Amino acid sequence: VVLSPVEVGEIVDTALSLFAPRVDAERVTLRRDLPTGRLYVHAEEIRLEQVLVNLVANALDAVAGVAGATLVVGARRRGRSVEIWVEDSGPGIDCVHLERIFDPFFTTKPVGSGLGLGLSLSYNIIKDLGGTLAVAETGPDGTRFLITLESATTHV
Ligand code: ADP
Ligand code: MG
Repeated sequence: VVLSPVEVGEIVDTALSLFAPRVDAERVTLRRDLPTGRLYVHAEEIRLEQVLVNLVANALDAVAGVAGATLVVGARRRGRSVEIWVEDSGPGIDCVHLERIFDPFFTTKPVGSGLGLGLSLSYNIIKDLGGTLAVAETGPDGTRFLITLESATTHV
């Protein structure tokens, strides 16, 4: 894989813009929680965007029908890493499912609406990019997925 500096705010905006109609139609409150400056990671733009799209799609599925639904996409620099998170106010992931969500074809969605490939694909992409993808938090108030990648910002 060939990694180059990718600006996180840009790919967050691209991913979110794809879902703007759905966010509006489903009355989801969206928060973009990024620092004012630019934030670069070593990645492949298209593939990192694909991961964000998968995580946001899952977050929106999770908040479907939830009153006062919120979606937060955030990022921050943390030492030599950059953390990117996608957080929803959905019902959380059942603990018996938790160890299987990254398996290919694991889905709890009705036939035809989910192939169960988004998270397994995303996990492998982030691994390829030298980072990690994990569930940072899940419970009855929601779920937060966390991507960690190497920072590509050379100055502090
Ligand atoms: P799919 O979306 O096609 O079901 P994924 O691989 O994207 O496949 O996700 C696998 C499963 O993980 C989902 O079916 C769901 O049970 C669970 N999941 C993923 N993201 C969330 C989330 N934000 N909240 C609750 N459950 C989730
Ligand atoms: Mg999915």
